Formats: sequence, structure tokens, C-alpha cells
Amino acid sequence: MKKVGFVGLGLMGAPMAANIARAGYPLTVYNRTSDKAGPLRELGAAVAETPKDLAARSDVIITMLTDAQAVEQMLRGEEGLLAGGGPGTVLIDMSTISPEQSRSLAIEVEARGWDKLEAPVFGSTGPAKEGTLGIMVGGPRAVFERHIDILKAMGNHIFHMGPAGAGMATKLAFNLLVAAQLQSLAEAMSLAGGGGVDLEKMGEVIAATPVASDLIRRKIANIVGDNYAPSFPLKHMHKDLGLMVATGHALGVPLPATGAIHETFTAARSRGYGDLDAAAVFCLLAELAGSRAKS
Ligand code: NAP
Repeated sequence: MKKVGFVGLGLMGAPMAANIARAGYPLTVYNRTSDKAGPLRELGAAVAETPKDLAARSDVIITMLTDAQAVEQMLRGEEGLLAGGGPGTVLIDMSTISPEQSRSLAIEVEARGWDKLEAPVFGSTGPAKEGTLGIMVGGPRAVFERHIDILKAMGNHIFHMGPAGAGMATKLAFNLLVAAQLQSLAEAMSLAGGGGVDLEKMGEVIAATPVASDLIRRKIANIVGDNYAPSFPLKHMHKDLGLMVATGHALGVPLPATGAIHETFTAARSRGYGDLDAAAVFCLLAELAGSRAKS
């Protein structure tokens, strides 16, 4: 069985790595903040001292990190992944970064004889725990087919979208829809609240209409319960909005509403809502409307 190394045990990475362990793959994990590796050790995973050490023990390395800068930091340097893996190593980067960043990483690692797939995901912490994530893969089809077994341990909607960059482009386009729904829900709730409508009742109405989705229902619960424990942190959606706008600029594809939503999320992050769930964009709008004190 392939030896798997998993780097990045955050909200998503920890449950995804746990599913790899439960599927029976010999697993080594690494996380910058080492105490997050404890639960994986209990599932039988080895804990590497450094990314280099992890790479030396792994046939396939999965990264699930915040952004491209974090991926670069894990790859490079004397103790980085590149220093530990030889030709034939397979890198599957599941972080959300830009298509351009992903393509240039593929060129770099392939020049060393590695194979690389990008495999960003849709679905949040619930599907990550249940192993029901959606996974949108970019990279050589043959590499995808050789490693789909590992992806199936983490997700059940798995798509090969095309060469390097295509998986990330798919992820950003999908997340644009999510961001627009979060923004429109927050504005609708803010307008209702400003007009004196009870937000719980407003939530019930939206949930009964054709626009309701699992996402909308969950985010209504965040807003009505004033509970923004992060499932998808606002700072990550802000990062993704920045990637959408930059990618649109690079391609000459205008995204006027996305630009405006990006600005709103910039303000929300600046006001201190970045570590809360992305639904906390409502808090910013309510604050601007004078109906909620900043928490
Ligand atoms: P998270 O909980 O913030 O975890 C981020 C991980 O990256 C942690 O392991 C963190 O290590 C590590 N990291 C960050 N900067 C680093 C650096 N400079 N060097 C080394 N390690 C670094 O994030 P997440 O929610 O799991 O998301 C991970 C990725 O999945 C992001 O690209 C996000 O956009 C994407 N995503 C998230 C969701 C979601 O619902 N949460 C859904 C789909 C896609 P420490 O523990 O040491 O901080």
C-alpha cells in the first residue's frame, strides 16, 4: 500500500488525514504547530519532525495548507519537502491557491521527477469528517487514475477537470457562487433586521423558499444564533476572493460583483472578523447599519 504523508492538520486537514489513516494507508503527518498531530498519533500515524523527514518516508505527499505562501514554505529550505523526496514522489496539493501558482509549482516539481496533482475541495468540516468532500483535480490523467484510491478515502464526488490549473480554476469559480450567496444572505438579513423584522422568522421564511440550500440553512443558523464558530473561516474566503479577482484580471474576465464582495470581506477582516466563520460578513453589514455592536 502507498505510504502517505499529510502536511497541514488544520480544520480540514486533520479530519482528512484521519480518514486516510482509517482507510489503512501507512501515514506520516506533519504540522507546523506540532500539538495538533496528537489525535493522528492516536490513530496510528507516525509524526515527522520536519517536512523533509515526512517526504523521506512517503510515496505520496498531501498538502492541505492555508495558501500558496504556506505551501512554498513547506516545500523549500533545508528541512523542506523537496529536500526529502526523490524522483517518483507524488505531491497532491489540496490547498486552495491560484491556478497560476499551482501550474508553476507543477512545472517546478515535475522538473525534479516528481508527479503533481492539485486537488482542492468543496464541502466544509462536516464532509471532511465524513469523507464526503468534493475534489476537483487538475494534472495528468494517468497520475490521477493511479491515485484516485487515496482521494476516495477523503471524498465521494471526485472530478478530473483537466491539466494543472484546471482544478483550481474550478474551485475558484465554485467558491465565487458561495461568496455571492453569503453576501446576498447577509445583505438580506441586514435589510430585514433594519426594517424591524425578527431575524429568526426571516430565516424561517428563507428556508421555506426555493433559494434555500444546505449552505444557506447553515449560514442562517450562524446568523440567527449569533454563533460564528468557524467552519470555513472568513479570512479564507477573503483569500479566495482575492484569488478570483486576480485570476479574472489576468484572464481579462470582468467580475464586477465579486470585486465588490472582495471589498466587503476586506473590511470584515480589517474589523476583526477574519477568524470567525465566513457568515460573519453579516456582522460587518449589521455594524455598518448601526444594528450591532462590534463583538
Ligand atoms: P486552517 O484550519 O487555517 O489550517 C491551515 C493549515 O495550514 C494549518 O495546518 C496551519 O498550520 C498551516 N499553515 C498555515 N500557514 C503555514 C505556514 N506558513 N507554514 C506551515 N504551515 C502553515 O485552514 P483549513 O480550513 O483547514 O483550510 C485549508 C485549505 O483548504 C485552505 O486553502 C482553505 O481555503 C481550503 N478550504 C477550506 C474549507 C473549509 O471549510 N475550512 C473548505 C474548502 C477548502 P498551524 O496549525 O501551525 O497554523
